[in-house]
Amino acid sequence: MSKQYRRWIPTRVRKTVLERDGNTCQVCSSTTDLCISHIIPPSENGSNTADNLQVLCRTCVAIKGNYVLTIEDMRKYLVLYEAQWLEDDKHKIGRVKSLIRYDLWEQERSRQNIDWTNDQDMKRTKDDVLHSLWERHKLFLERKGCA
Ligand SMILES: [Zn+2]
Repeated sequence: MSKQYRRWIPTRVRKTVLERDGNTCQVCSSTTDLCISHIIPPSENGSNTADNLQVLCRTCVAIKGNYVLTIEDMRKYLVLYEAQWLEDDKHKIGRVKSLIRYDLWEQERSRQNIDWTNDQDMKRTKDDVLHSLWERHKLFLERKGCA
């Protein structure tokens, strides 16, 4: 089965999911730019049946990406990283995703009790996160009229 076919969701199923979720993004309650999103992504063998699908807006889909995140997790990240405010800025969505990746990595690290400080990929992620935190701090100052 081709990758494309696995991602294709029949119109009938899309309609069922949209109706079930009240034509509303399940994370941020937006009613515009809605998409059908996989809970478990097709790349992880998630199915195209209604129980593995949810309505998300375009911004929330971009942030969720291929992560397996619950609605509660997604909301937590939205609050944490002010994602609603980020809107459709792809560059900023990328930063939020870095922050999520970093957070998931931290969770995994403490779960397995492993010291991954020498992992080059993760070190780069951490630098990225620190950079984006600084950028956010600068924006915060600008919005407050402090910069
Ligand atoms: Zn949303």
